[in-house]
Amino acid sequence: MKFQTPRGTRDILYPEVEYKNYIFEKSRELFKIYGFKEIVTPTFEQTEVFTKGIGEASDIVSKEMYTFKDRKGRSLTLKPEGTAPVVRSFIQNKMYGKPLPIKLFYCSQMFRYERPQAGRSREFSQVGVEILGTIDPLADVEVISLVINLYKELGITQTKLFINSMGCRNCRRDYLKDLVNFLKIRSKKLCKDCNFRIKKNPLRVFDCKNENCKQILADSPTLKDYICSECKEHFEKVLKGLKSLNISYQLNDRLVRGFDYYTKTVFEVTTPELGAQDAICGGGRYDYLIEDYGGPPTFAVGVAIGVDRTANVMMNMSIKPFPEKNIEVFIITINDELKEKASILLDKLRGNKISSDMDYCNRSLKGQFRMADRLKVKYVLILGEKELADNKVSLKEMETGQQLHINYDNVINYMKDKINVR
Ligand SMILES: [Zn+2]
Ligand SMILES: [Zn+2]
Repeated sequence: MKFQTPRGTRDILYPEVEYKNYIFEKSRELFKIYGFKEIVTPTFEQTEVFTKGIGEASDIVSKEMYTFKDRKGRSLTLKPEGTAPVVRSFIQNKMYGKPLPIKLFYCSQMFRYERPQAGRSREFSQVGVEILGTIDPLADVEVISLVINLYKELGITQTKLFINSMGCRNCRRDYLKDLVNFLKIRSKKLCKDCNFRIKKNPLRVFDCKNENCKQILADSPTLKDYICSECKEHFEKVLKGLKSLNISYQLNDRLVRGFDYYTKTVFEVTTPELGAQDAICGGGRYDYLIEDYGGPPTFAVGVAIGVDRTANVMMNMSIKPFPEKNIEVFIITINDELKEKASILLDKLRGNKISSDMDYCNRSLKGQFRMADRLKVKYVLILGEKELADNKVSLKEMETGQQLHINYDNVINYMKDKINVR
């Protein structure tokens, strides 16, 4: 029997994995510069943590969650996104009692049962930030500028920011009434999913990928005509803040993001480098979520960045993450009896932060040299009976072919000098 990765999952091999690590590293670095602290939430949560906030009519909850019962029959779900767990933790750990805002970031695996296709896996990574406890429009600006700067840092300078205001419950009330009327008249022409959405959360019809539905929705009323003065003022301040940081944006009044919890500012970033219209990151404000989850009324804003898609963009653009690092020293033994000695020397080299390796497959002398070549090492240390009897080893510099004897007790210091170990 041959085992394979489960459908929709994949192995991330070298060098792609280096892109992922690089994005994690650069994100952590930048998030800390912006004053965020890391949080790690469990891989799975009580299912309600996601159904309540993301919404039953969303694609994520209705089609894409990995939900299962544990041995005690409790319904658990692998996290499909990062915000709901952070909010659950914010309330559970009473962070609202600390000086606000609380600024948190996460780097995590997420799981969604999506139709497998290029660039979409059922397990994927996201990094994201959340600012909890402020309504200041400049917090929205901070989150947006953070992702734009992160992309610059990663070498992706060509980004497009789409932004919209989804308003608050006040301005949505009249809008939803009119939207539902509009949809009901056309319900026979809308797909089955959209008819379900009309009942659960009509805003979710804008997530529909059905071309027919999209065409009908092009004429629907838009929220911007209903926005209340407070939401309008907030949105204008966000846009002004973006301008003052020279961040260009494009208004998109159909942008509603696929989560129920968003209010006021929502945004997405795309890049022409990805080809498709898929966003590489998205976020927004969620001013009711904490209260809805049983916490005190707390305003909040956040963003999530798709690590795999971002890595794809970097690979398409041939952006190199970490410089390639080869092993410095390879130890070769004249015969197998000397392997143990080699392993002791190897241990000392590594203990001194000199990257080094040896053969474990009983290769011939020639085979060991070939391996050293393949690894592109700079130095080869050769252990032979005769030399060791004189307390010496041979050192070969691969580039020049130069070979010399050095005292066994001096090997580490000699190599440290050669390699310039910090
Ligand atoms: Zn409003
Ligand atoms: Zn539809």
